[in-house]
Amino acid sequence: MASILTGTMSPSHTTTTMRLFNTLSGEVDELVPSDGKELRMYACGPTVYDYGHIGNFRTFLEIDVLRRFLKLTGMSLRHVMNITDVDDKIIRNSGAAGLPIGEYTAKYVSAFFEDLDALGVERPEVIARATENIDRMVQLIQKLAEAGAAYRTDDGSWYFRIKSFPEYGKLSKKDLSGMEDGARVDVDEYEKDSARDFALWKAAKPGETSWETPIGRGRPGWHIECSAMSMEFLGDSFDLHAGGEDLMFPHHENEIAQSESVTHKPLARHWMHVRFLLVDGKKMSKSEGNFFTLRDLLLKGYKASAIRLALISVPYRHQLNFTFDGLTDATAAIDRLRTFNDRLMKGAFPAGENPDVMTAAKKARDEYFAALANDLNTAEARAPIFELVRVANTAMDQGKFHQSDREAVRTVLADFDAVFAVIADRDAEPTRRAVEWAKAEGREAEVAPELLAQVSLTDEAINALLAERDQAKKRRDFARADQIRRELMEKGIVIEDSKDGVRWKRR
Ligand SMILES: [Zn+2]
Repeated sequence: MASILTGTMSPSHTTTTMRLFNTLSGEVDELVPSDGKELRMYACGPTVYDYGHIGNFRTFLEIDVLRRFLKLTGMSLRHVMNITDVDDKIIRNSGAAGLPIGEYTAKYVSAFFEDLDALGVERPEVIARATENIDRMVQLIQKLAEAGAAYRTDDGSWYFRIKSFPEYGKLSKKDLSGMEDGARVDVDEYEKDSARDFALWKAAKPGETSWETPIGRGRPGWHIECSAMSMEFLGDSFDLHAGGEDLMFPHHENEIAQSESVTHKPLARHWMHVRFLLVDGKKMSKSEGNFFTLRDLLLKGYKASAIRLALISVPYRHQLNFTFDGLTDATAAIDRLRTFNDRLMKGAFPAGENPDVMTAAKKARDEYFAALANDLNTAEARAPIFELVRVANTAMDQGKFHQSDREAVRTVLADFDAVFAVIADRDAEPTRRAVEWAKAEGREAEVAPELLAQVSLTDEAINALLAERDQAKKRRDFARADQIRRELMEKGIVIEDSKDGVRWKRR
């Protein structure tokens, strides 16, 4: 079990300035709170109609990396994330399941947070649910109508008039000159390249979930949710808006149009978009057979930490090609870090310092901070950490590692883990939960057999077997002792005999 690391902050890094690509300006801009105190940021959250796939989670993970790094540099945050708990798909699926939408989405909301916890994604300061903020959306639509930017159709729905907002397209830099005035799109899912008047409010259809409001009975469109909730919790104009690259158009473009038509202020000064991933070089799709939820991967026996590292090791603006080889590499990299951390924390080192190690630690830390501050370059940030591990291991092998070296290296690892969050071992719980979930959902057949054996073995059962092995050794029954060791090995339990007694860990 690795020691719990706590992030430390040396005063020299409170001055680190984060530079992040800004989709709106097309440049790498400084990211600073406009009020000089607290960075106000909004990130589009999930639509809760199914389990999240690894492409969704890559976006949440990269935003988590940003969040954690900003905090490490001493910045305070007010980060808001929405939960879209009403939309076309949710209404369709809940109807098919014969459930009220709240009951239908509850399962996916808790699954989403369980998955975030498994991946070590920190919670935003504010989580806003669409169904709890309908009033705000209605008020915004009323203001848009007053401003001449919204109109009502015969069926009682409301649309945004794109012609009323000449700056439409400024974020995605699309040429939308061919757009047709008054052409409308009615569904939440629509073509990628057409600018059409989009629904702000959808009139109630018989049997559908709806709200009785001053603008009629109906429900909000998807885009108005984020405009209304971001401004409700962050003000008319805030520092950063983030999301997956697929949201840039039309979703974010529509958010800008809705908000700025009313406020005449920039909705957000800085826009961050996380690129999508490929799986085995192809777009992830159910028909290609390369579609994975987080749970699919946990059930195959991959650790949550390895999935986290694999998804964040490629910088957010680069396309990540996700492969099983990549996951295996991430697993090996984490093992190396954890083994080193154990050695570092448990080793007995003489007093004093080795100037070479001290220099290597300082260099690693400087390079690490510089890489993350430079548009969140996670690939360049991890490299110096592994180099430091190599240098420190060599010094330990040669008996040239001292107590002050340990302190210096420990500080660097703590800063690394404050953002990457893979050294402290929290892997057992997500795996155990995923297996329990699979059993409850009747999907036990998808669980890797060695995993099933592993989680069926409780800590008490392992300790009892180890006590029996100890007794067997004492009475010189080595056959039985070996048999127990083998049994545990097969179930993924690694035993280490040391002079202080027996230690074990789950592989
Ligand atoms: Zn949004």
